[in-house]
Amino acid sequence: MTPAVRSVLVVGAGVAGCAAAILLARAGVEVDVVEARPGTTDTGSGITLQGNALRVLRDLGAWPQVSAQGFAFDSLGLRAPDAHGTLLAEVPDVRTGGPDLPATLGMSRPALAGILLDLAAEAGAKVRLGVAATGLDQDADGVDVTFSDASTRRYDLVVGADGIRSWTRRTVGIDAEPEGTGMGIWRVSLPRPADVVRTDLTYGGPCHIAGYCPTGPDSVYAYLVEDVQDRSGLTPAEQVEVVRGLAAAYHGPWDALRESLSADTPVNYTRFETHLVEGPWHQGRVVLVGDAVHSCPPTIAQGAAQALEDSAVLADLLLGTSGWDEDVLVRYADRRRDRARQVVEASVQIGRWMLDRTPREQADVPGLLRRISSLVEVPA
Ligand SMILES: Cc1cc2nc3c(=O)[nH]c(=O)nc-3n(C[C@H](O)[C@H](O)[C@H](O)COP(=O)(O)OP(=O)(O)OC[C@H]3O[C@@H](n4cnc5c(N)ncnc54)[C@H](O)[C@@H]3O)c2cc1C
Repeated sequence: MTPAVRSVLVVGAGVAGCAAAILLARAGVEVDVVEARPGTTDTGSGITLQGNALRVLRDLGAWPQVSAQGFAFDSLGLRAPDAHGTLLAEVPDVRTGGPDLPATLGMSRPALAGILLDLAAEAGAKVRLGVAATGLDQDADGVDVTFSDASTRRYDLVVGADGIRSWTRRTVGIDAEPEGTGMGIWRVSLPRPADVVRTDLTYGGPCHIAGYCPTGPDSVYAYLVEDVQDRSGLTPAEQVEVVRGLAAAYHGPWDALRESLSADTPVNYTRFETHLVEGPWHQGRVVLVGDAVHSCPPTIAQGAAQALEDSAVLADLLLGTSGWDEDVLVRYADRRRDRARQVVEASVQIGRWMLDRTPREQADVPGLLRRISSLVEVPA
């Protein structure tokens, strides 16, 4: 079979870019990856990976490392914003990746990035860190790319996996810019208290959500979601004080988490944003995956899962097609768009119900979560 593509450039080495690189390089495609950041692509904090993300990670060959370094669990705790952090319910989570994988796994973002970069290199992809794509010029037969180190090369296909503010998306004129959803999140990585063995969420109190997720035997990331504010003027020590102040309203395991905050604990504050490219997800021989093409606030922790699924579907279609035909990129977006849309809309909806303080009887969060679980349970 004549391959659809012989050479591919992947712009960005996040989860989407690494997944595309691993799958294509392993099948014999010549893959270059450029990543603008100089070191590990993802700094600080943790990530909650749902079963459908774990299924793709297993297909990439990452499961032994991911399961060894992460912290798996099968239920979600709901706590009250009261003086004891009373556990209201322990809800079993759906194993959306299938019965052989846990429902959820938390891990450190740098650990996940390291695992995926190693696998990409092992598969034969040439990864250049600290190098950005800076110019694209395509014709019917290929794409000429210029890089920040002044090198140039021509490729059969460019995969734009360069995140929510995608340079690739803007450069090829695909029109969609992320919008704020009205919420902001404080995140800190801390030592894991012994009684933190799954994600517990507290709705209400001074924050919309106070939550945590174990990320390994010794680590946890804790987060507090508030109405978005301009927090840019705060010093690192002042940021810690804000987190400590907000966390003071939450108890149970939060008491130990709060105690472990120190003036030099790194704190991250991020606005929730969302977008979905409504038109084509490609332009000629340039195609978008992951946050470059859709993003959602992490209210149901599906962003990375959807990014991984994009790359798995794109690789599946490219590797199953004989000879170049732009239609393969149309079929990719057709297979992905509705699923990504449902996830994005559900993620935004949950946040909106909180912002609008919609009465519980009109905000069917459990029903929405069940619908998304049933959707993503089916492989992409
Ligand atoms: C606060 C917050 C919490 C989240 N929590 C979760 C969660 O718990 N679970 C979950 O599944 N998802 C979560 N998400 C979403 C998740 O982080 C993203 O969906 C996912 O990281 C997208 O991966 P990506 O590979 O598409 O993009 P990214 O991870 O953004 O990677 C893009 C890469 O491209 C690089 N790049 C950019 N421009 C260029 C260029 N010109 N040349 C070369 N490289 C370039 C960037 O440096 C970056 O490394 C969260 C998001 C936010 C904002």
